[in-house]
Parts: sequence; C-alpha cells; structure tokens
Amino acid sequence: MKDNTKCLHSGYTPVNGGPRVMPIYQSTTFRFNSTKEIGDVFDDPTKAHIYTRFTNPTVDAVEKKIADLEGGVAAMCTSSGQMASLMSILNLCNSGDSFISSASIYGGTLNLFAVTLKKLGVECIFVDVDATEEEIQSKIKPNTKAIFGETLTNPSLQVLDIEKFARVAHKNGIPLIVDNTFPTPILCKPFEYGADIVIHSTSKYMDGHALQVGGVIVDSGKFDYTNGNFPDFTEPDESYHGTVYTRDYSFAPYIVKARMQLMRDFGAYPSGNSGFLLNLGLETLAIRMEKYCSNALKTAQYFENTGKFEVVDYPGLKSNKYYELAQKYLPKGQSGVISLTIKGGKEAAIKFMDGLKLASNEVHVADIRTCVLHPASATHRQLTDEQLVNCGINPGLVRFSVGLEDVDDIIADIEQSLAKI
Ligand SMILES: *Cc1c(COP(=O)(O)O)cnc(C)c1O
Repeated sequence: MKDNTKCLHSGYTPVNGGPRVMPIYQSTTFRFNSTKEIGDVFDDPTKAHIYTRFTNPTVDAVEKKIADLEGGVAAMCTSSGQMASLMSILNLCNSGDSFISSASIYGGTLNLFAVTLKKLGVECIFVDVDATEEEIQSKIKPNTKAIFGETLTNPSLQVLDIEKFARVAHKNGIPLIVDNTFPTPILCKPFEYGADIVIHSTSKYMDGHALQVGGVIVDSGKFDYTNGNFPDFTEPDESYHGTVYTRDYSFAPYIVKARMQLMRDFGAYPSGNSGFLLNLGLETLAIRMEKYCSNALKTAQYFENTGKFEVVDYPGLKSNKYYELAQKYLPKGQSGVISLTIKGGKEAAIKFMDGLKLASNEVHVADIRTCVLHPASATHRQLTDEQLVNCGINPGLVRFSVGLEDVDDIIADIEQSLAKI
C-alpha cells in the first residue's frame, strides 16, 4: 500500500461488526481469567497487554501504523520526543560507553546528550553534519555504540547525508539512529538509506494539531546485534527471567528490549487517549505534508524575493547549500519549516515577529497553523553563542513554520509586517 492508504488503514482492522474507528482503551490494566494466563503473558509480553506502563491496545495500533509507514518491523511510543531520544541511546549505551552525534540536532537533544547523559556516564562525541567519513571514523572508540543524526535539522534545516553516516556506523558494527521528525516518513524513509533506528517527536507533524507532546522509536529489524558489540542483546537478561533478545525476539530485538527494560523501568508510556489523538493526526499526515511543502516553497520564494533577508534557508530553494542532498533524500518536499536571518539583526527579527498577525509567536513548530519562533531567546537559550554556531544557529535566526492556511494569506501577513520595519 502507498502512504496515503497506510495513514488511514494500517495498524487497525475492524472485526465483523466492530467499531470502524480504533477505540480508546483508557484502562491502566487488563483482566485475565487465571493466574496461569497472567504468568504466560509475563513469559512473553508480546502476546497480550498487561499494564499501560508499557503496552496498550490503542497505542499498539498507532505503533503498528508508524512502523508500517517507516518500513520498520516494530515501534514503541513514548510520552515525548525527548524520551524517544533518551531511550534510543540508553537501549545501546551503558555508563562507560560513548556514541557519536551530528552536532546539528534539536537544542533539547543537544542538551540531553551533552549535559544529562554525561552525568549518567554516557559520553556523546559531536561531529559536524558535513564531516567526511574519515573525520567521523576518527571519533570512533572501542566503547562507541551508536551514531545519531537528524534528517532535517530543527531549526537550521541542514540535511543529513544518511548513507554517509550509515556507512561509518556499519563499518564499525554499530547502528545508526536517525531523528526523522521534520520530514516524517512521508517525505523520507531513513531505513531505505541504511538507518537502523528511527525516532520522532510526534508532537510535530505527526500529531500535527498541537494537541499533545509525544514520541516514538521505530526498529528497522535489520541490524545484527549478535555481532559481538552488544552483549545486553545476546546474553540472558536476568531482570527478565533470562530473556535473550536476539534469540527470543529476533524479529525486533531492539524495540522489545527497549520496552521490556527501559519502558518497564522508566514508565514514560502514552495513555490510550493519547494514542487515539495521535492516530487522528496520522490519518491526514500524507495529505498534510504535501500541502505544508507546497505552501512553504512558495513562502520561501517570496522571502527570497523581498531582499530583506540575509539568509533564507529552505532546502527546496536552488540557492540552498543542501539543495542537492534534499533532492536525494527529500525529493517530495522539504517540510513546512523555513529558517530566516533578517537584515538588521536581532532587533529587526523581533520587530518582524511581533508585527505578524496571522502567524503566532510560540514555542512550537510543524503545526497546522503558521507559527514563528526566535530560537536564541527561546528553545535554544540554554546554549552558548559558540554552541549555537556549532549547531548551525545564527543568534538572529527566526524559525518560520508554514501552516495550512491559504498561502496568499500567509504571504500577505509577512508583507504587512515587513512594511512596518
Ligand atoms: C521537538 C523535537 C524533539 C523533542 O520532542 P518533544 O516532543 O518536544 O519532547 C526532538 N527532535 C526534534 C527534531 C524536535 O523537533
């Protein structure tokens, strides 16, 4: 099936006479007829639902839909994108291990990796998103367990050369994790280019309506964890009655391990109601992505023609440094997000933002409504100027997230605000 169809039909098929719409299982727990039957599910938790701290039927249907859209074998929803990033790493790295990350990543992820994971004894080694294979290779250490990157970076819109990072990862017997939040599987399926694990903040385009924060981790099912680098996958898990993930769950050892160890212990799982709302967003994802992209391209071209911006970063513009990579990895469109640096610096940026009437000033992006943000004074304010520049963010940068309003109205709003500067 194609994406438009998967968005509507994957993950849930009504039984004869059953509800057309996937029901909300708003229940902490699930009842069994006997102690033995509960015991059987503990032996193999993929067989039924026990407790909504790690599985729930409504969320399960959403996980199947997202896994299908990405071309993976299994997925696990999390209560936020941050939790998806954290668990994607902790499922591979123990204290004393390291991993490599592209420096061009979302500010929250950067802080998680550079500060909080460091406190837990997991070292993140950053590399430039445009580093050569040799440069990336030179950062690999015997304890390096993964490589991480963001397909289309928030907010600097740099495009990750997924195949390049995958080659280095696989040469060293470690998986590549890709944060695919901005493209969504509609614009890019990182597994097709060698990524092994995909994560998302579903708070953005997937939910699409700014209803709720959430995340997801998807397992391609292709990485070989029996290669000697991952004893936690191949040796009995004494905390789970001797389960050997690669032996007992060979179809998706990564996601089953993440659920049975990390989700069980951390308990950052969405409710049935959350799964229901996320599914509602996913139903229109493919059709919405098309429109975000066409609205954004027109808006980016308008921005470029005003002559009032030092930089208009949108990888769909021919002038963009990442145009060629975007044509390869994001040929159907480059999302609705545009990065702008206005002439006149920070002051002009703030005037421009405050003059907008339709576009709202808020800490959000990839919403159905047009919204705008100044990262240096909001999402990225914890970063030093040096860190800002390292992750591709000019202190005067404005993130303009084009919504699904009529593009003429979006452009008219920009025009009236620019006229006032
Ligand atoms: C927002 C975002 C996150 C964090 O997700 P939350 O749902 O806000 O926790 C991670 N990665 C990217 C690319 C994001 O845009």
